[in-house]
Amino acid sequence: MSDYIIRATAGDHQIRAFAATTRELVEQARQAHNTSPVATAALGRLLTAGSMMGVMMKGEDDLLTIKIQGSGPIEGLTVTADSKGDVKGYAYNPGVMLPPSQAGKLDVGGAVGEGVLSVIKDIGLKEPYIGQTILVGGEIAEDLTYYYAASEQTPSSVALGVLMNKDNTVKQAGGFIIQLLPGASDAIIDSLEKKLGEITSITELLDQGNTPEMILEHILGEFGLEIMEQIPTRFYCSCDKARVEKALVSIGRKEIQEMIDEGKSIEVNCHFCNKNYEFTVEDLKRLHEKS
Ligand SMILES: [Zn+2]
Repeated sequence: MSDYIIRATAGDHQIRAFAATTRELVEQARQAHNTSPVATAALGRLLTAGSMMGVMMKGEDDLLTIKIQGSGPIEGLTVTADSKGDVKGYAYNPGVMLPPSQAGKLDVGGAVGEGVLSVIKDIGLKEPYIGQTILVGGEIAEDLTYYYAASEQTPSSVALGVLMNKDNTVKQAGGFIIQLLPGASDAIIDSLEKKLGEITSITELLDQGNTPEMILEHILGEFGLEIMEQIPTRFYCSCDKARVEKALVSIGRKEIQEMIDEGKSIEVNCHFCNKNYEFTVEDLKRLHEKS
């Protein structure tokens, strides 16, 4: 597996940084959900962000969910990541087709439209932490930059990209999140802004053969980049028949009886990985007894 995330620090701990290469996991998501090119780009960007934001959490069982609800034809996206680099997600309308944007790019902003970005962090407290901001363009990286500034008061630079092959498979995917920590000096802020202004496209850098380490070195080298950790990341869903059974049992005895009365086997779909689980009438009868 070649996808991974780099966790790093720079500027005497005034800057923290994450960079990721995620081609394989985005391609896997594309195959699982049979996404159109623009949906692959949107979902791939959000999965890449999710993988990095997931490993920012400290607890072993912490879970992060990013939800985008928009007025555009993709209708929305949901991504869930853990702190170990596992990420999964889906687009509500994976088949959305749109003409390219004016710049000739996949029109992710047009597919997402106007709406809301929510970040839900379940870090083992009674209530999950929920931060919510409006979308500022729907291109996802900018929306997350805005989220970090407005909701978490952390000045951040977020870059996310997905580059497609001519046959609509994923050629490159990746991104970075660079954040200023409290107390960052004006000198650091100014030179970092200048440096970030020179970056045009994360996927172009990856396509030229740059690794996440090299990209961070390029941006943060002059501030004394220190690479802390390399974390493998993957598209992974932990669903299985037993979990789906539990969910079915929890919908209630009466509902299961109704399904039995229909006399047909049913299929339950996992939204996150698009796997289908079949339950025969015999299965349902067994569940009915359990419920
Ligand atoms: Zn699943």
